[in-house]
Amino acid sequence: MSRSKKLFKLQKIDTAIDTAHKRISDIESILADDEELKRAQKKEKNTRLELEEKKKILQRAEREVRDQERKIAQNKEKLYSGKITNPKELEDLQLEAESLERYLAVLEERQLEAMIVVDQYQTAHKEALEALRKVKENRKKLHVELNQEKSKLENDIEALKAERKNALEGIPEEDLELYEGLRQTLGGIAVAKTNEQSCSACGTQIPSAVYQKARSASQLTNCKTCQRILHAE
Ligand SMILES: [Zn+2]
Repeated sequence: MSRSKKLFKLQKIDTAIDTAHKRISDIESILADDEELKRAQKKEKNTRLELEEKKKILQRAEREVRDQERKIAQNKEKLYSGKITNPKELEDLQLEAESLERYLAVLEERQLEAMIVVDQYQTAHKEALEALRKVKENRKKLHVELNQEKSKLENDIEALKAERKNALEGIPEEDLELYEGLRQTLGGIAVAKTNEQSCSACGTQIPSAVYQKARSASQLTNCKTCQRILHAE
């Protein structure tokens, strides 16, 4: 096997390992991201607190209606008890009865309005609860899938590392040093395959003399533009 072919094989393995590591890191970011969950929880909490507030307003309105009805009952009791015979007093009671009834109508209107508001907030809270339930359900499903993918990638990396160990055999120390150095400075890609007679990494045309060297079993050459080691099949 040519020197460049050995490095190219190593490159393929290292690229696969890098890709797996990158995906694992992406997966970890997704797993750690709880923005959507927090948003749904906040919405549920806010709508619940608002609903409680509106329910209190309704309870107060209901209490006021009951109090008013009690006052009306007391007024009627006096009015029809037969104990009050003074016409002025009876007239005052009659006027009070009318005024109490008028105000009861106002209070009942308020109670009705409060009921409508409670209904609206109940719907909003129900929707927020349902949305939260869905977020939790989707999140659970996603986490199961991602954790499965992550452990598969970890196994893949172990297998690739074993493969890498084998691929290292027979690579001269100086070639490996050159390879590792280029990998560090060139974004992980140290070896480029030739494509026709150009560099597959940067697209530069390769002069014939360089191309011949790239095909050689015993020599290493690099792309004059991107500096990567060239490998021609
Ligand atoms: Zn190049």
